[in-house]
Amino acid sequence: MKPKESMPKIVIYEQKCKGCELCVITCPKKNLRLGQKINKKGYHYIEIVDLEKCNSCGLCYQVCPDVAIEIWKDK
Ligand code: SF4
Ligand code: SF4
Repeated sequence: MKPKESMPKIVIYEQKCKGCELCVITCPKKNLRLGQKINKKGYHYIEIVDLEKCNSCGLCYQVCPDVAIEIWKDK
């Protein structure tokens, strides 16, 4: 049996996010959305919809002006 591919790891720094949604419109999997909760700056921050759908492309990380996302994948 083939080992299951390792899950991508995404860290969303909710206190850095300003809810601009650049990452939301950039994600090719439509896998990010604004959540209901508000951070200390008063912004809604993003959340991942389904971790298993993420392909670790890194576009959300690249596009975020506030470095609020980190993403990597185990080898
Ligand atoms: S790494 Fe790619 S697929 Fe995963 S959430 Fe970010 S933009 Fe979407
Ligand atoms: S691009 Fe960055 S600041 Fe904008 S919503 Fe996404 S994580 Fe938040």
